[in-house]
Amino acid sequence: MNCKICNQQAKHVFKAKVLKKYVINYFHCEQCGFLQTEEPYWFDEAYRESINVSDTGYMQRNINLSQKLTILLALFFDKKAKFLDYAGGYGVFTRIMRDIGFDFFWDDKYTKNLFAKGFEYQKEWEYEAVTSFESLEHFCKSNR
Ligand SMILES: [Zn+2]
Repeated sequence: MNCKICNQQAKHVFKAKVLKKYVINYFHCEQCGFLQTEEPYWFDEAYRESINVSDTGYMQRNINLSQKLTILLALFFDKKAKFLDYAGGYGVFTRIMRDIGFDFFWDDKYTKNLFAKGFEYQKEWEYEAVTSFESLEHFCKSNR
């Protein structure tokens, strides 16, 4: 298997079980150090629910990020402008940022907007900045 980062040959290094039922092969690239699995055929099942029920830090991470972003956006951006949280999950971060006073909007093609309804991304609008957290899966070529 070739490395998805640098396209060099990656070596099989171990197997491990995911979703408690699929034994997956892992490959390591000696050129760049990237560790990857075989082609992920289990993604649809794994992301049927985009927020894992065992993720107990989900709300606290959103609160922590909102506090850090508030400082950054207030100091270095037009705080009256529109902002976008790309791959925003259920909309928790967008909701928190709106509650703080920022004009935040939500976008996520894989998850239902539960907390920021009515504040969905509009492509004709301009955004001062785009945030995106824990969204690597949205950029994987094999993920649809
Ligand atoms: Zn590589």
